[in-house]
Amino acid sequence: MPLLSVRDLRVEYPTTRGLVRAVNGVSFDIAPGETVGLVGESGCGKSTLGRAILRLAPITGGSVAVEGRDITHLTRRELEPVRPVVQMIFQDPQGSLNPRSTVGRSIGQPLAVAGWDRDAIEARVAELLRLVGLPPEAAHRFPHEFSGGQRQRIGIARALALKPKLIVCDEPVSALDVSVRAQVINLLKDLQAELKVSYLFIGHDLSVIEHISDRVLVMYLGRIVEAGGRERIWRRPLHPYTRALLAAAPAGHPRLARLRPRAVLEGELPSPLNPPAGCAFHARCPLAEARCREATPTLRPFGPDAAAACHVADATGEVPWPAPTSQP
Ligand code: SF4
Ligand code: MG
Repeated sequence: MPLLSVRDLRVEYPTTRGLVRAVNGVSFDIAPGETVGLVGESGCGKSTLGRAILRLAPITGGSVAVEGRDITHLTRRELEPVRPVVQMIFQDPQGSLNPRSTVGRSIGQPLAVAGWDRDAIEARVAELLRLVGLPPEAAHRFPHEFSGGQRQRIGIARALALKPKLIVCDEPVSALDVSVRAQVINLLKDLQAELKVSYLFIGHDLSVIEHISDRVLVMYLGRIVEAGGRERIWRRPLHPYTRALLAAAPAGHPRLARLRPRAVLEGELPSPLNPPAGCAFHARCPLAEARCREATPTLRPFGPDAAAACHVADATGEVPWPAPTSQP
C-alpha cells in the first residue's frame, strides 16, 4: 500500500480577477521510505500541492489518502490522529520558529499539544537534537543564536518530533548558502536511512533534486507533465519542458548542454488565471504543432518508468529533438 496516494487533485481559489487553478488534476503515489522530487518554476503550484497534502490548502476536487485512508473531507477533529503522520518543513525555518521561544520549547511544542508530559518532552527533545546533529545545550538557546543551516536543523527536529512517515520539504535548502546545502541534504538522507521516513521534496534547483530523489515529478502550471525515475529523467527526458529545465540547470547534463540551443526555455510561465488553451507549454515549446494549441495532453505512461503529457510522444514514448536553431 502506498504511504500517500494523490488522485486527480485540484486546488482552486477565487480571486478578484477570476478563478486560479493552482493544482489542476494531479495524481501520484509515494511509497514508504521513498523520496519523490517535485520540480518546476516558481508559481507552478508545487508549494500549493505540498500544502494540500497536509490539508493546508483548499482542496476543490480529487482526493488525498494517507496509508489508505482518504483524508480529503475529514473534519479538523477527525484529522488529528492523521496529522502526526505527515509533517512539513519550509524554506524559511524562521517562520515556523517562535523567536521568543527557546529551541527546546519550539521543538517540543507538537509534543506538548499531543499531551506528552514535561520529562518525556525533555528526553525526546534531547534525542531529536542528537538526530539532527545539534548539541543538547541548543535546547536552552533562541533561534537567532543559530545560523541558517542550524535553524533548518531545528525545523527538521521539530518536524520529526511526532515520528512522521512523510515529510513534505518545501524548498528546504533554497534560502541557504550553497556550502551549507549539501550538509542539510545529507542530513535528510541520513535521517531517511535511520528512520525510514519518506519525503516529497519540492524544489526548483535540479542539482539538489537529482541528489536526493528516487523519482521525479515535473510540474508545469498546475499539472504534472513528466514523471519517472531520476536516472531515466536525467538520461532521457521526454517532455520538452523537462529538457528545457535540465538544459538551463547550472550543472546541466553534458548531453543536454550540447543540445542547449534546442532546449532553451524562453518566455515566462503563463498565469494560472488565464491558462493557455491546449498544452499550457505551447507558447514556449520548440516542438509545438497546431493540435498543441487545441487539445490538452494527458499524462500517459510510456513504460514502467516513464510518463509524459505531450502530443508528440509517439507509441514508444520518444519525443524527437527539434532541429538546432541557427543561433550558436
Ligand atoms: Fe510541446 Fe505540443 Fe508536447 Fe506541449 S504537447 S510539450 S506544445 S509538443
Ligand atoms: Mg514555493
